[in-house]
Amino acid sequence: MNTEEIIKLSDQYVMHTYGRIDLVPVRGEGARLWDAGGREYLDFVSGIAVNSLGHCHPAVVRAVQEQAARLIHVSNLYYIEQQARLAELLVQHSCCDRAFFCNSGAEANESAIKLARKYAKKRYGPEKFEIITAEQSFHGRTLAAITATGQPKYQQGFEPLPPGFKYVPFNDLDALRRAIGPNTCAVMLEPVQGEGGVNVAAPEYLAGVRELCDQNGLLLIFDEVQCGLGRTGRFLAYQHYGVEPDIITLAKALGGGFPIGAMLAKEEVAAAFAPGDHASTFGGNPLACAAGLAAMQETLHGGVLENCARVGGYFKQKLLELAGKYSFVKEVRGLGLLLGMELAVPGAGVAARCREQGLLINCVNNNVLRFTPPLVITEQDVDRAVGILDNAIKVVGDQ
Ligand SMILES: *Cc1c(COP(=O)(O)O)cnc(C)c1O
Repeated sequence: MNTEEIIKLSDQYVMHTYGRIDLVPVRGEGARLWDAGGREYLDFVSGIAVNSLGHCHPAVVRAVQEQAARLIHVSNLYYIEQQARLAELLVQHSCCDRAFFCNSGAEANESAIKLARKYAKKRYGPEKFEIITAEQSFHGRTLAAITATGQPKYQQGFEPLPPGFKYVPFNDLDALRRAIGPNTCAVMLEPVQGEGGVNVAAPEYLAGVRELCDQNGLLLIFDEVQCGLGRTGRFLAYQHYGVEPDIITLAKALGGGFPIGAMLAKEEVAAAFAPGDHASTFGGNPLACAAGLAAMQETLHGGVLENCARVGGYFKQKLLELAGKYSFVKEVRGLGLLLGMELAVPGAGVAARCREQGLLINCVNNNVLRFTPPLVITEQDVDRAVGILDNAIKVVGDQ
């Protein structure tokens, strides 16, 4: 099928939940993507921080091919070697002691919400159930996850929302202090907010949040679905801060492109779940976990974190130079290769210009250009991207 035929077929039969761009990617390799017309792109979206090792990383492809030929799925009625090994790897490289596997970020957060409520009810009684989250946060699209998400645009039209959530401005410790009440059981935050515009938590803020949680008997949940797994130059974003959460949620990059999510918790917290309390049919199946194992081993031991920190620093410097050239670039922010450039004008036009020139980026919050390239990109890739971006910004600025 050609591009037009694919778009027509999709528009006719697929539910219209996405505002799609007229681009049909058909093949990928590293940071490169090709569309149905054979055109090449430099991919600085990476499936929204999913393809952190680049497209079709050989180690992930091999693991998926071999595992698919041996055993794709069995039930969690049985023990699964790949699941146990992936849990071990995640525990060894985090502050947590146990893992639960699911299939997406929203499900990982659902699991965290359920665990936090169960733990608090067991330990403190039935009235402790409320979870405080941040404005501009994003936690996924299930009913509980949109309710946890502190942005009305994701909630409107889906009421009634489940009770037990409260929102505070991000990076405002006093607001959090005031919001904590007798019903509060947990605080859930992204150390770096992704969809909300690439907002980095201040070190004093996260340290203060931990202290407030400890003083009030609250669990601290870090949603690292986007900022985790190497994206910021450390394996987990919280490791920049020296502040340990009680629960961590993961997904996006976990399977190297294959769908898998996880919820990690410290032993004492994890113990609140008894057999039968939570489950997922597909969660932790052999194929997803084989992909996850390959992707995480490469992330941890393939020089990926070092490359991300180095090239991320280089990229940020280049973006800051661009910001110095154009008055309508308001701010450059982010950590590692989760970077954002806030404009004083809508960003969609810039992203479209970039695409015409062969660079894929996307825009969040209307006016923040977000950059989530593969963590394996080179300085030359950055130079090419920044050249294209410079031209695109110049054109939009001239209009
Ligand atoms: C993408 C994202 C989610 C939701 O993940 P899905 O796999 O789409 O359900 C949750 N939290 C954060 C921080 C995300 O970026």
